[in-house]
Amino acid sequence: MVHHHIASRDHYDFRLELNGVMISFAIPKGPSLNPTDKRLAVQVEDHQLDFNNFEGVIPEGQYGAGTVMIWDEGTWEPLTNAQEGLAKGRLKFVLHGLRLKGEWTLVHLKPLDKNNWLLIKEKDVFALDEAGIDKFITSVKTGRTMDEITLAK
Ligand code: MN
Repeated sequence: MVHHHIASRDHYDFRLELNGVMISFAIPKGPSLNPTDKRLAVQVEDHQLDFNNFEGVIPEGQYGAGTVMIWDEGTWEPLTNAQEGLAKGRLKFVLHGLRLKGEWTLVHLKPLDKNNWLLIKEKDVFALDEAGIDKFITSVKTGRTMDEITLAK
């Protein structure tokens, strides 16, 4: 699943379920459907599964204060052993999201003790020659925009 999260910075939180937790990456520019884009994805702490259902406003003073939208959801399919891929720094997988689909790769950047990865769209029928995400401005859960979520608090 993906949260669109406007906190101190605007970013997207890309989350993959593995072994009962959500492996999470903060993507400042958001995912891109263009295979020539390589989007920085900073791995952050694992999140609990129930946070997947959160959409709303995290109050000032709390971690991640700001507006959170459920931007995409669906299933994912690792194409190799996921645990091993994460450990070795290269994970290829298929997304069956409402918005993100097809093959993707996460590549761990050196130095490996830092949490910087790249999220790359693989060339397939879902690839575009542009990032292609700007048109998706509403929640897949509630249909609300970021402003509407913010004002509803
Ligand atoms: Mn976030």
